[in-house]
Amino acid sequence: MPRVYNFSAGPAVLPEEVLSQAAAEMLDYHGCGMSVMEMSHRSPVFQGILDEAEADLRQLMGVPDDYAALFLQGGDSLLFSTVFMNLAKNGKADYVVSGNWSKKAFEQAQILGDPKLLASSEDGNFSYVPDVSSLDVRDDASFVYICQNETITGTRYPELPDTKGHVLVADQSSMFLSEPVDVGSYGLIHAGVQKNVGPAGVQVVIVRRDLIAEDLAEVPTMLRLKTHADAGSLYDTPNCWGIYVCGLVFKWLLALGGLAEMEKINRSKATLLYDYLDASGLFSSTVAPRDRSLMNVPFVTGDAELDRRFVAEAAEEGLVNLKGHRLVGGMRASIYNAMPEEGVRALVEFMDRFEKGVR
Ligand code: PMP
Repeated sequence: MPRVYNFSAGPAVLPEEVLSQAAAEMLDYHGCGMSVMEMSHRSPVFQGILDEAEADLRQLMGVPDDYAALFLQGGDSLLFSTVFMNLAKNGKADYVVSGNWSKKAFEQAQILGDPKLLASSEDGNFSYVPDVSSLDVRDDASFVYICQNETITGTRYPELPDTKGHVLVADQSSMFLSEPVDVGSYGLIHAGVQKNVGPAGVQVVIVRRDLIAEDLAEVPTMLRLKTHADAGSLYDTPNCWGIYVCGLVFKWLLALGGLAEMEKINRSKATLLYDYLDASGLFSSTVAPRDRSLMNVPFVTGDAELDRRFVAEAAEEGLVNLKGHRLVGGMRASIYNAMPEEGVRALVEFMDRFEKGVR
């Protein structure tokens, strides 16, 4: 079976070169006579893999020295709570809810303390990003929280909010390493890697070191960022295999020319699809033009039966996982870093054929 074009929202497509390299190194990693899956996380060989992954990530993102870069576990959803417990010591943090993931983060904060909802686009089924140019941030808010790219509804912040000098925290899961970001503009960035960067089971946290609390007696040890920062992501057994594959993807990105180059490719892919959608008489984008994600592209025909037929016929052409999330319906094409431009081209060509067939 040839490889398909996989438009899954995550776990998602990975670079073929990376998969081939992981396969080639499976039985014998660099003369160790074993795979990375089988070696001790305390071994010098794995320490080398971890150190190199962190160094490459820092180079790719330009992570300043006063930020820690951590590889954690537990799911990105756990970070909704972890971030609040570590950074909102007074129990106060302010949230912008632009989609289902920032809504979930806000809900976790409601369990743990006294978050404020600054703005929401739920009234428009999260089809746009709320205006964040003049937010009423509380003076004593510990941070302002956003999900910079909402995976389900396909929005991306056109610009970062004015936090009025407060720390900005961003969930970047579905846009992680898809474009350059100025790490210094954030207090903390968190991302599950299973969209753009690696296999499920690893979360990256990039956090300004002075925000890592020293005194969190009430917080379980595993949920303290300090625990993992002090131990260099090796407090307990990490997801060794996941970190190794992320490391291979970091090298793939560096070889490509880094994140500026990646962004150019991603913009070109997204433009191809959005231009087609805007011109189509059958399909349409569900997102306000200025807020459209470069990674997750939901679209509909307006006829649920036709949507179902499209998804089924696309799959027969090797264009798979195009069914939209149940909260939006229709279709969603996730066109992450590793989706080649030919994949997006093949999708657009199929959409065009389908549209002509329907007319
Ligand atoms: N944030 C975003 C933006 C996501 O897309 C997801 C998963 N789709 C999550 C958080 C939750 O990640 P996890 O499944 O690793 O808990």
